[in-house]
Amino acid sequence: MLVKCPVCGAHTPRDVAVEVPARGEPVRFCSARCAEEGVPGEDAAAPLAELPALPRRIVVAVDGSGPAQRAVEHAASLARAADGELCLVAAVDPRLLRAFDLVSGAARTVDLGIAPDEVQRLLRDDAAAQLERGARLCRESGVKHSTRVEMSPPLAAILEAAEEADLLVMGSRGLGAISGAVLGSLSHRVIAESRTPVLVVH
Ligand code: ATP
Ligand code: MG
Repeated sequence: MLVKCPVCGAHTPRDVAVEVPARGEPVRFCSARCAEEGVPGEDAAAPLAELPALPRRIVVAVDGSGPAQRAVEHAASLARAADGELCLVAAVDPRLLRAFDLVSGAARTVDLGIAPDEVQRLLRDDAAAQLERGARLCRESGVKHSTRVEMSPPLAAILEAAEEADLLVMGSRGLGAISGAVLGSLSHRVIAESRTPVLVVH
């Protein structure tokens, strides 16, 4: 049985045609070269129909750094153009709390004068203050937004928050002390693992 190549129109035996999976029936081309060109006309544009014209649900990862604040600015500008909304997320790594426990445990005789749950509250307040800076920018520019502090490891918190979003925006670097690298370790890992498109702002 012969199939007609949708690119050049040549007729090719079905069993030697190059098959490309598609929604519904697979598409059969006469050659790999035609397959690379793809289906002309409406079919070629079809995948775009499933994507939003502009990202409307945008998650921004915020850690109080300059690049993260610039990420908020870019995201707010996109959201305003798309009549979308931002979700600003800051994560407090529980390892910080454990580290503090170790320190205060070792130094109990010195008495640091601050209880572990107080530390947790301070860290949460600090994250909320970092979010507030971004939230203020949104309020002043009339951009719909919400804020979230997650008491969980930042990588998991950010990936989870972005799962249902159209776009994730973050800074290239954060508050980490190691300089020289173009990307911080969290940006690096988010780019590697996110299934939502990521915009990284310097
Ligand atoms: P490192 O942490 O590896 O020392 P860094 O701090 O310079 O390096 P990253 O931590 O990768 O860089 O930060 C990059 C971006 O990730 C930040 O601009 C911010 O958008 C986001 N980010 C970092 N930490 C957090 C966090 N705790 N919660 C939410 N977003 C964060
Ligand atoms: Mg960091």
